[in-house]
Parts: sequence; structure tokens; C-alpha cells
Amino acid sequence: MIEDGPGRVLELITTGSARTRSEIAHVTGLSRSTVGQRLDTLFAAQLIFESTENVPSRGRPSRGLELNPRAGVLISVDVGEERTRIAVLDLNLAILGDRVARLALGDGPEVLLDRITAILRELIGQIGLDQSAVAGFGLGLPAPVDYEAGRVQGWSIMSGWEGYDIRRHLRRSWPVPILIDNDVNLLTLAEHRRHFADQRHLFFVKAGTGIGSGMVIDGAVNRGAQGAAGDIGHAHIAGFGDPQCRCGNLGCLESLAGGWALARDLGEGHDARDVAERIRRGDSAAVTSLRKAGRIMGESVAYATSLLNPDVIVLGGLLATTGDDLLAGIRQVVYQRSLPLATRQLRIVVTKYKARAGIAGAGYLVRDHVLSPAALDARLLIGRSPFADAL
Ligand SMILES: [Zn+2]
Repeated sequence: MIEDGPGRVLELITTGSARTRSEIAHVTGLSRSTVGQRLDTLFAAQLIFESTENVPSRGRPSRGLELNPRAGVLISVDVGEERTRIAVLDLNLAILGDRVARLALGDGPEVLLDRITAILRELIGQIGLDQSAVAGFGLGLPAPVDYEAGRVQGWSIMSGWEGYDIRRHLRRSWPVPILIDNDVNLLTLAEHRRHFADQRHLFFVKAGTGIGSGMVIDGAVNRGAQGAAGDIGHAHIAGFGDPQCRCGNLGCLESLAGGWALARDLGEGHDARDVAERIRRGDSAAVTSLRKAGRIMGESVAYATSLLNPDVIVLGGLLATTGDDLLAGIRQVVYQRSLPLATRQLRIVVTKYKARAGIAGAGYLVRDHVLSPAALDARLLIGRSPFADAL
């Protein structure tokens, strides 16, 4: 990376830290002529444009500089237990097109990844783009993921995927940076970047058919040593009986409070969607069962609160976004169990995302990578257009 090179200048523009030539010169300490050279490189690569509006700047008003959102597109895929969402985003992470498909995880990686590629090719054609416009590929999976290796590992609902080289398979069709992460980590990232960017410590809980969590520590997502950080769904909870969990152990949080467990107890349906449907109908047995699930989940969240001392806890997933019953149960236990210092400033909220949070998370992940100063400078240095022949 070149110190204060074009990549760094683009970062200042993209994050809004500097919007004009004089602001860039001020922030970087570069001379005006060097700033001009950096900008020329970015203009030539069509990565930025000059807005038509003047922005107030140091001294006199001048033209604002902006990231060209169509300099390239990003692929974002959120693989779910029931449904997979597949999207094409511009560099501002606006959705240019998306599809929802019911893909069976049990079909294995090759069938499923090829199906995703086929849907993407169709989608990109319909948007009127060429595949060469794709600058990066972000993929979220409902399993622990070795982030560096891009492989699923350990027990998960994705049986048959463990150790499979996903990146190598995808790269045959998509010769771009491919970033793969656990789906809850991506929800955590989206939540932090979109709604709580000014907070350093965030804990996210996804309460759906399964239960998982993610954490931002000191501003960055923490994945742990093996990508298993936050896998609270399969930690044992004492005092509520020890039902059989789908992982093979007994008495996991998920076996007591996950959507599938609630459906089992209610004797109807099999996942969070079925439970949420009953809640919406005002079914009192389902409401009682969800409140109890909130209190049980509260035990785990209280431990996490003591351990991490977060600024904010965000609840997502279908069980959290269907009414306030889960939130109420979790709040009650967390405030009871934690010391006042840890909860004095703590906020516990339900996510504001309605849908597509996973798509946003994979988008942030891949955009951060392709627009990172180091990655951009490397491409610009070898004289290539930054993202192949994008647009
Ligand atoms: Zn389990």
C-alpha cells in the first residue's frame, strides 16, 4: 500500500471523512498537487465523480467528490436453513436485483453453489450487466466458518459441507475476491455498521429456528480462534431439563428456546416460522412459550453481558421480531442477573432491519475488502481498471 495513496484518498471520500480537494489535503497533509495526482488516478479508473453541488469547505465552497456506485457491482448471498437470498449490489450497497430461492442444504456444496451461480448469471443478465462488472463475492452460511480458509467446520446443520473448499469451487465461475462468513457474524456486522457505528461493543443474538450470536469487540467482529465464537445455541443451560438437541448433546440453549424446540413443545409445526405464525394469531400457548424462551435465553445473554460488557445488545431473527415477548423475557433476566455497572448504560433492542440484513452484512464485508486501500492500490498500480472492465 502506498501511504496516503489513491486507495486511502478513496477511503476518505467513501467514509465522508473528506469530501473536497482541500479537505483531503488537510487530512492527509499531502500537497495540493499530490492530491490532484491521486484524484486523477481515481477519475481515470472511474471510481469517483465530482458532484454537481458545491459543498462548504475550508476557505471557499468547492465541488464535492463522491464514490461512483456503479464502478463495479458486488454479489451478496445469504444462505439460510429454509431460504437463500441472492443479490447484486452497487458499491453503495443498494440492491440492483435479488432473488429468493428454496435450496436444500442437504444437496451438498457442489449442487447448491452451482445453483446459486446459475441464478446469479440470470440475475446479472436481467439487470443488464456483464459478468465482468462483478468486483467481489460475499457469502453467508448458517454454520461455523473458518473465515481465512473459507470452509465450514465443526457440527452444523450443513452436513456434508465440512472442510469443502467453497472458494475454489466458486472461483471457477467468479474470478474475484470471495469472502465467506457465518451468517450471524454478517448480521452483527450489518447491525453495527448501519445502526450502531458509533458504539465500540455490540452483542447480537439471532433467535430463529436455531440460536446464534455475534459480537463486535472494540469496533471489529470477533470470530474466535476457529470461527465458533458466539455459538451460544449449543452451550448447556442448567435448570430447565435436558432435552435432546439436534447437535447430539442434551440441554443446549437451542433445545430449550430455539424455534424448532418451541414448535416441538407446542406440538405443531417444525420451525420459527410456524411459531411466529401462531404468535401473530395471538395464540396464548405460543405467547407463553415465547416468554419462557426469552427468560431462558436471558440466562445466556446475562453471561455474555458480564463477559463482554457491551454498549448495546441487538436481538434479531423471527422470534425476536414477532412482537415484544422475547425482548421482555431477555431484558428481565439480564437486568436481574447482571451487576449495575454492566447494565447502567446498556441498551437492549430489537433490530430495525425488516429483511435483507444478511445481504447487507455480506455486502459490507466484501465492499470493505475490495475498496480497502491496500487492495485498491495494488490493482491501480499494475495499471488495470480496478474491477476488471466494470461498466
Ligand atoms: Zn445442541
